[in-house]
Amino acid sequence: MAEDVLYTTVVHAGEDPKANLGSLSVPIYQSAVFTFPDAEQGAAIHEGEQPGYFYGRMGNPTQSALETALCQIEGGEAALALASGMAAVTTTLMTLLRSGDHIVAPESLYATTNALLDQLLTPLGVSVTYVDATDPGNYAAAIRPETRVAYLESPANPTMKLVDIPAVVAIAKERGITTVMDNTFATPFNQRPLTLGVDIVVHSATKYLGGHGDLMAGALIGKREVVERARWQTNKILGGVIGPQTAWLILRGIKTLALRMERHNANALAVATFLSGHPKVRAVHYPGLPSHPDYALACRQMAGFGGMLAFDVGGVEEGRRLVNTVRLCSLAVSLGDVSTLIQHSASMTHASVPRERRLAVGITDGLLRLSVGIERAEDIIADLAGALDRV
Ligand SMILES: *Cc1c(COP(=O)(O)O)cnc(C)c1O
Repeated sequence: MAEDVLYTTVVHAGEDPKANLGSLSVPIYQSAVFTFPDAEQGAAIHEGEQPGYFYGRMGNPTQSALETALCQIEGGEAALALASGMAAVTTTLMTLLRSGDHIVAPESLYATTNALLDQLLTPLGVSVTYVDATDPGNYAAAIRPETRVAYLESPANPTMKLVDIPAVVAIAKERGITTVMDNTFATPFNQRPLTLGVDIVVHSATKYLGGHGDLMAGALIGKREVVERARWQTNKILGGVIGPQTAWLILRGIKTLALRMERHNANALAVATFLSGHPKVRAVHYPGLPSHPDYALACRQMAGFGGMLAFDVGGVEEGRRLVNTVRLCSLAVSLGDVSTLIQHSASMTHASVPRERRLAVGITDGLLRLSVGIERAEDIIADLAGALDRV
């Protein structure tokens, strides 16, 4: 079970009634401009030498409340909330990497992070080595004198493979390399990478932190020095600012994170168990099943196994038929919503990827990714059972 602190901390994270006329709910500061008390203090605030606000791109009190909440739930020194998960990934990597630097990243990676590395950072002179991240030794083997970042994503999308976080952290620390980890799939309820030694955690708050599929946001959390450079240098230029209303919605989402994640975890385990006993299902990938190759590792580094799973129904046609037949599950990308979402990688998100490359990273023809929602588990299972009958 997750640490007790998360059950109570999430409910009160970011609250500060004293600073807000007694308001228990953090107010939405709908302002882009803040006046300076005087010229001297204005200059200090403008340079970040004194706390305060002056222009929305550099911070807003509602955003700050969210950043405080994120530090509390991830166990970080500092946080920067941004407009999307990709704004967080981009801002983090552009803070840490310069032309001539090298990054080691998993070959099984969120597709747009992949695009950032190949289409934006590579042309700017950053070199990338993709490794099979299930073996930490592959990180060690890929490291060069100019390596600055070791990137981790666990569980991986959509294959649910795990990375041994403490092992990769040890390899990186020995060589002075910064570790960055995408913790979107697990959430801090199930996995707290900063407590395992990771330097920076990134999130797509669009997913479980917001939790309701109704906003776009992201964040980076961790070492103060990196976060403040990301705020005062990188994002000051890139400008991927979060709006105060969105920041407030995430604060509200976080209050029910523990409740939702407990249910996501329990439902996903029930669905994974059902699927693994079904004659038409060839494979189920869920770190909470003892049959998962990294089950022991999952038990060591995760407090819960999450709401994401993948399963294989054979060929492309079977996969397509299944997603066209389900009724309760919505055919949609994204994840971490209270509703159950299903997608078929081979005919949807990865349709443009050549089959050989797809197969090489474990995205088989009949692989379906399921973001298990918080509906009654029996209803989700009945929907899948009915669709499997017709595959
Ligand atoms: C969705 C997602 C992202 C990107 O986040 P956006 O909010 O869509 O920009 C990054 N990493 C993972 C693992 C994701 O699921």
